[in-house]
Amino acid sequence: MEKISVVISCYNEEKALPLFYEEMERVRKQDFKDVDFEYIFVNDGSKDKTLDEIKELRKKDKKVRYISFSRNFGKEAAMFAGLEAAEGNYVTLMDADLQDPPSLLRQMYDTIKKENYDCVGTRRVTRKGEPKLRSFFARMFYKIINKMSDIDMVDGARDYRLITRQVVDAIISMKEYNRYSKGITSFVGFETKWIEYENVERVAGETKWSFWKLFKYALEGITAFSTAPLVMSSIIGLLICLIAFILIIVVIVKTLVLGDPTSGWPSMVCIILMVSGIQLFSLGIIGQYLSKTYLEVKKRPIYIVKETEKSNK
Ligand code: UDP
Ligand code: MG
Repeated sequence: MEKISVVISCYNEEKALPLFYEEMERVRKQDFKDVDFEYIFVNDGSKDKTLDEIKELRKKDKKVRYISFSRNFGKEAAMFAGLEAAEGNYVTLMDADLQDPPSLLRQMYDTIKKENYDCVGTRRVTRKGEPKLRSFFARMFYKIINKMSDIDMVDGARDYRLITRQVVDAIISMKEYNRYSKGITSFVGFETKWIEYENVERVAGETKWSFWKLFKYALEGITAFSTAPLVMSSIIGLLICLIAFILIIVVIVKTLVLGDPTSGWPSMVCIILMVSGIQLFSLGIIGQYLSKTYLEVKKRPIYIVKETEKSNK
C-alpha cells in the first residue's frame, strides 16, 4: 500500500492540535481507505503544552510520530525536519491551524496519481479575513520578486502541497541555511498543478506572523533567490558617476567663460547628502548578502532535535 506522510509544523498550537487531528482523521477514514498514513508533528520549540498534546496523540495512535526541537527554529526549519523524517511515497506539508483544509487532500492525491503531476500546490484566491494593508504589501512583494528573480513564484501560494518522493529528495538535497521554501520549490522544478481555494481562518490560537516578521521574511526571499539588488546598486553608481562627469565639464566651462568660481554651496550640500545616502544604501545591500553568506559558510545545522518518538523518555 502507498503511504502519505503528513508533516505538521507546530509552534504554540496546543488549542488547534486536537481539532486538527480530529479533522485529519475524519478525512483519512472517509477518503483514504486505500492509502497508509503517518503524521509527523514537528514541535518548533513551543512554549505551551503543544508537545504534551502531541505525546497524548502518540499514546493512542501509532501513526503519530514527532520531532521536538531544542528551541524555536522557524517554520522553514520545521518543514525541512519533517521532510527529512518522512518515510511515505508522498509527503504533504500542513499548518496545524486547519487553514490548509485536509478535505482537499483526496483531490490533490488523485491529481498526482491520474494526471501524472509531481507536485500539487494550493493557492488562496482570496485573502479574506486578512488586514488590507498586509494583502497590499503581499501583492507588491510578489510583483517585485517575480521581476527580480529568474524563478516564478505564485501569488497566494501556500506551503500546503502534496509532493512525490522524487521532489522530497530534491528539496532535502538543498541544504542551505537561509531557507525560503517558496523559492526552493520553484527552483527544483517538476510539474506543478495549482488547486485554488478560498482563504480559511485559523480554528484556534493566533497567527505567529507580525508585520515585521513578514517583512524580514520577504527580504529573505529576495536575497535568497535574486542578486538583482547588487546589480541595481552598481548601475545606480555608474549613472551617478556619469552625471557627475557631465556636471564637472559644465562647471569648468562655466567658470572659464563667466568667471564665477564660488557659487552653488547649497546645491553642493544636497549632492553630497544624496550621494552618500546612495553609498550607504548600496553598502547595506552588500551587507545583506554578506551576512547571508556568512551564515551559510558557517554550516550551522538547520535545526537541533531534543527528542522524537524514538527517544523513550
Ligand atoms: N509555525 C512554526 N514555527 C514558527 C511559526 C509558525 O512552526 O516559528 C507554524 C505554526 O504553528 C502554523 C504554521 O507554521 O502551523 C503557520 O503559522 P501561522 O498560522 O501563524 O501563519 P499564518 O497562517 O497566519 O500565515
Ligand atoms: Mg495560519
